[in-house]
Amino acid sequence: ATVAAARERAQGERRVAITPETCRKFVAAGAKVVIERGAGNGAAVTDEAYEQAGATLLDDAGAVYAAADVLLCVQAPEAGSIACLREGAALVGLLAPQADPARAQAIQARGIVAFPLERLPRTTRAQAMDVLSSQAGMAGYKAVLIAAQLAPRFFPMLTTAAGTIRPSKVLVVGAGVAGLQAIATAKRLGAQVEGFDVRPETREQIESLGGRFLDLGVSAAGEGGYARQLTDEERAEQQRRLAEHLKGIDVVVCTAAVPGRPAPKIVTSAMVAGMRPGSVIVDLAAETGGNCELTRPGETVEAGGVAVSGPLNLASSGAVHASEMYARNLYNFALLFLADGRLVDGRIGFDWDDELLAKTVWPERNGDGTAAG
Ligand code: NAD
Repeated sequence: ATVAAARERAQGERRVAITPETCRKFVAAGAKVVIERGAGNGAAVTDEAYEQAGATLLDDAGAVYAAADVLLCVQAPEAGSIACLREGAALVGLLAPQADPARAQAIQARGIVAFPLERLPRTTRAQAMDVLSSQAGMAGYKAVLIAAQLAPRFFPMLTTAAGTIRPSKVLVVGAGVAGLQAIATAKRLGAQVEGFDVRPETREQIESLGGRFLDLGVSAAGEGGYARQLTDEERAEQQRRLAEHLKGIDVVVCTAAVPGRPAPKIVTSAMVAGMRPGSVIVDLAAETGGNCELTRPGETVEAGGVAVSGPLNLASSGAVHASEMYARNLYNFALLFLADGRLVDGRIGFDWDDELLAKTVWPERNGDGTAAG
């Protein structure tokens, strides 16, 4: 089978879905690897590095798509590129198929076997393929560095000849994968760190990183280990306690999310107005609308001396390591159907009894692998 990756076209996207490391592994597994020239530039991978890893490099993106039995990507290609894929080819990446009707249509029209990895079940077996986790780790790390950069204060406590500087107080809202990495990073920079989440099990996780769990009196564990949406009463209670607490906080890093829904609005304009000038909010949830009411995606705004930053695609800003992890995730996922490099009638053989394939594929399929509906 031929596994391929083209240069990412989405604006600001620097990551790449195949690295020389995974290229070598694919070749060792019996696959042929095709890469568009320049595909690794944003992630500091040269064409020569791919060549040395056994890849064939092509100048033309269309030729890369046409050669692929399995096209690996970070963000979904445009509908026009999908139309260049072979009938029945597999497409794996953060595809967000429903975000663009033309793309969804192209996937279906071409009979593409699409695996949007945001649909991957988050089971123990899937951990090594979990791109949401690996990329969230980089995002949480970078969010804290942005906050430190914007803050007019030190993070650590300093004892100097000019007297003592007290450490910054950092609050991390939402302690999932990104939030926990943010807590760990802020802690390493020497800040006093607190975190809160509506899933009660996060208390222990926050504490194990040296953070303090901020108890806002709301517990809302939902399905599949995720949070559920809060009721109006729960939200009001959370907000009342949070508003008071934020008056003493220097830096807020927001990471709260509820699957399939816009980001919960947690930090209101009134709360920001109550914060001290010189405080900083970095809102990782900007992509899905923001946890802070003042967040503007892709911008940093100022309100009453408080900087509110809504960075987008932070994983891409750490493209080297983000790609390293992402590419390994994709390699592990592709092994579910490439283990023996087999092609059946020119198509890859998918085992639709494998829950990871069956639950990730889009559109959903019947048990025998035929399109549902
Ligand atoms: P996410 O990005 O969907 O959400 C981030 C965090 O926001 C979550 O911890 C969530 O509880 C929290 N949140 C939602 N609403 C909130 C509110 N109103 N106030 C405060 N916090 C709020 O989550 P994620 O980082 O992708 O991970 C979510 C869960 O999935 C975690 O339990 C994680 O351990 C689990 N997980 C399991 C696996 C696995 O076993 N394979 C892999 C990754 C993650």
